[in-house]
Amino acid sequence: MSYQALYRVWRPQRFDEIVGQTIITKTLKNALITKQVSHAYLFTGPRGTGKTSAAKIFAKAVNCHYLTDGEPCNECETCVAINEGSLNDVIEIDAASNNGVEEIRDIRDKVKYAPTQADYKVYIIDEVHMLSTGAFNALLKTLEEPPANVIFILATTEPHKIPATIISRTQRYDFKRIKAVDILQRMQFILQQKTVSYDDQALKVIAKAAEGGMRDALSILDQTMSYGDGTVTYENALQVTGSVTNQLLLDYLKQVTQQQTKAALITVQAVLNEGKDAQRFIEDLTSYCQNLLLFQQDAEMVTEMELGIIDDDFKQLSEKIAAEKIYQMIDELNDVANSMRYTTHPDVYLEVLTVKLTHLQPNNTVETTPVNDSQLAQQVTDLQQQISDLQQQLAKVQSAPITTAKVAPQTKSKPRVAGNKGPTVSLKQVYPVLDHATRKDLEQQQSVWTDLMNMLSVTQRAVMHVSKPVAASDSGVIVAFDYSFLFQKAQSDQELVDALENGLDRLLGVSLKVVFVPDSEWPQIRKDYLANHKAPATQTGTPKTDKSQPSDEMTPKEEPIVAKAKDLFGMDVLEIKND
Ligand SMILES: [Zn+2]
Repeated sequence: MSYQALYRVWRPQRFDEIVGQTIITKTLKNALITKQVSHAYLFTGPRGTGKTSAAKIFAKAVNCHYLTDGEPCNECETCVAINEGSLNDVIEIDAASNNGVEEIRDIRDKVKYAPTQADYKVYIIDEVHMLSTGAFNALLKTLEEPPANVIFILATTEPHKIPATIISRTQRYDFKRIKAVDILQRMQFILQQKTVSYDDQALKVIAKAAEGGMRDALSILDQTMSYGDGTVTYENALQVTGSVTNQLLLDYLKQVTQQQTKAALITVQAVLNEGKDAQRFIEDLTSYCQNLLLFQQDAEMVTEMELGIIDDDFKQLSEKIAAEKIYQMIDELNDVANSMRYTTHPDVYLEVLTVKLTHLQPNNTVETTPVNDSQLAQQVTDLQQQISDLQQQLAKVQSAPITTAKVAPQTKSKPRVAGNKGPTVSLKQVYPVLDHATRKDLEQQQSVWTDLMNMLSVTQRAVMHVSKPVAASDSGVIVAFDYSFLFQKAQSDQELVDALENGLDRLLGVSLKVVFVPDSEWPQIRKDYLANHKAPATQTGTPKTDKSQPSDEMTPKEEPIVAKAKDLFGMDVLEIKND
């Protein structure tokens, strides 16, 4: 018998088997029990969180004559036929491949006919955001006059791409990322059923790498099992996810903070010798540092998010390093991550980084390691020597042709790799918001900001906790981040952007674009914008006239700018740093 992927075999068949979405499954079961079934549902949420599984279970439950507590029996003819995908009345459409108007027109033509085998005809349209405008219009017509006994279940990872007219005709359910601990329990359950032996630590590594998606977790588990001939070991899980052990990360950070350059360099070598990917090492280090920071601010948050990371060593380290220093380290890590993307010699970069990290100068905290003058002189000499050695190596590397050089050892698989270049501010997105920005819009954003943050997942909130809206219009909002690494993290996180835009849509009833900027660059961006847009602000929303320079030599140029600035950014225009 050919091997079947775990996520297929263990796809939930009952609402109770859907992990981490209790509120949604409870609500759906209640609707079924009380026969308050709507004719259109919208299931939104990240991939692998149970949307299509829930849709199929719903299709069974609404048609099953042996419903028990809202759960389908999975044994009657109808249930079995739906499980096998052979019931004509349950129609699954993948909009990613069927995005034409024709297919939806086809639905419109056939939707009129009563179900032939079951009580309800159920259309499940997956990735519904991929439909063309024409197809959406056709779908809307159908939803406006829904025939009896027809149910639409629309599933999507990107609800903001769905027209509001469609959304308003559906009952919406937002599927959340699944907590690592829930993923862990599900994997334990499956492995126990399969009587496969496993290492608990391994499952923690997998649960963490899956980032809230059950399907991803089971795929990684599959890989780990095939890597380990049917067993699940910690080593294999690390290998498959490309992760570095927490112990190694901890050792390394201890060494660099205690300025043990040599020991830290040996640790780096050990990481590379194990065949770990240098880029991944940097990513893991960065996330470890972020956890340290978060732990200092809100210990509970980290405990909830991260499995198996918090032990006494972690706590001790978080007490010892000043937040300031961690921020510096993260900045360094970011720099090196950007510059080593295309190198064939990541080891050299890691070594330079290590020397830099061991000699970070605290900005305002004073290190309390007493050293006498001769020790200090020796340290400086050592350091100078190390730096010049490394610089020579680096120069060699940089001048060498990159043609067909063999790439340093790579891990077997890397489920997720960050984007190819560091995110930058998109003025193309910033300027259109500024063109129509008003203080009223900004105040509106400020008034809903806390609510918006509460709609995010714990992880997303962690990224956003040092951000704030700094300008807004009726088309978008500009959000500034105190720390540039969090700006970069946010900028490359499409799900976060989606969550924010959806949240604003729900809070304010308008669809707004969310644009990120680092707080450090914001004053300059503002200045540049104002310098380029000297025409008086048009407050009534009439088209702007920035290209035509008005003949206003008589009036001092400052005034309209200041007026415009005040209008855009509010009273804090001159002291934006203070809040
Ligand atoms: Zn049944």
